[in-house]
Amino acid sequence: MTETAEKTSEQLLREWTEHPHFKYRGCAGDPDNPQRMAGNPDLHVGAHHGPDAFAPEGQRERRAREERAIEVCLSCPVMVACDLYASSVRPDGKLAEPEGVWGGRRALERHKALIRRRVASVAAPTNRAFETAQKRAVLTALASCWEPFEVAAAAGMDVRTANWQRSSLVRLLGLPKTVSRMRALAVARERGLLEGVDLVADDGTVPAIPPPTRLPDPALIPPVPVVPVQAAAEGSCRGVRSRRKRVTAVTGQLSFDDALAPAPVTPLFSSRRMEAAA
Ligand code: SF4
Repeated sequence: MTETAEKTSEQLLREWTEHPHFKYRGCAGDPDNPQRMAGNPDLHVGAHHGPDAFAPEGQRERRAREERAIEVCLSCPVMVACDLYASSVRPDGKLAEPEGVWGGRRALERHKALIRRRVASVAAPTNRAFETAQKRAVLTALASCWEPFEVAAAAGMDVRTANWQRSSLVRLLGLPKTVSRMRALAVARERGLLEGVDLVADDGTVPAIPPPTRLPDPALIPPVPVVPVQAAAEGSCRGVRSRRKRVTAVTGQLSFDDALAPAPVTPLFSSRRMEAAA
């Protein structure tokens, strides 16, 4: 497989050679003089690849030859298809065309581009890392608000988890911890993570990772009425009784005791039939 995600080198080669304008490519032989190049009759037809191994070439001559070959490429009707094929990678990890000028680029340029692609693919985590439900929820929430409790509520989680996910998102995006919310969202959008999500802008000073968020003082939280569930058999088991007292009842919910209450037993046979059988 090539690094052109979907297509192999062979497929790209076929696309190039079967291009409707392939026969008009600049480096083809001139119909009147096959030894000269169709795109520039002043050049030998092999100018894109240089002299063979028996004809050494100085650095200056090589550079001049390559520049003239590149000029031919720049007016070639199949340059894009040619470059896609030549810069694709074979299963052995090498460029499909490791030598010569192809698609308007020297071999060295195409090798450097390959190295850059490899480095980028290793350094950047794939979007799959962002596909957990919590990360998706926090990123979407962060696009519409930024106050820690609002983000947490919009994402449907507690504020500590939401803050942790904000920090994790920034790290996965390869951004510094001090990055602003707007910058982080812009990078996420560039990576296609916010498609179809509306962005509410701030003034650019809001950090993507909020400072440590103070949770409300427990003393200020209004007490929730606690209704202890009555122990079914008080005194029968101290351990069970003391544990049950911590359970709170929710209105409309079946009580633990109701669920455990024995169902009435309905005899399958009348007592008379049972006596007859005995
Ligand atoms: S882009 Fe250059 S190397 Fe490729 S077919 Fe055209 S002229 Fe030839």
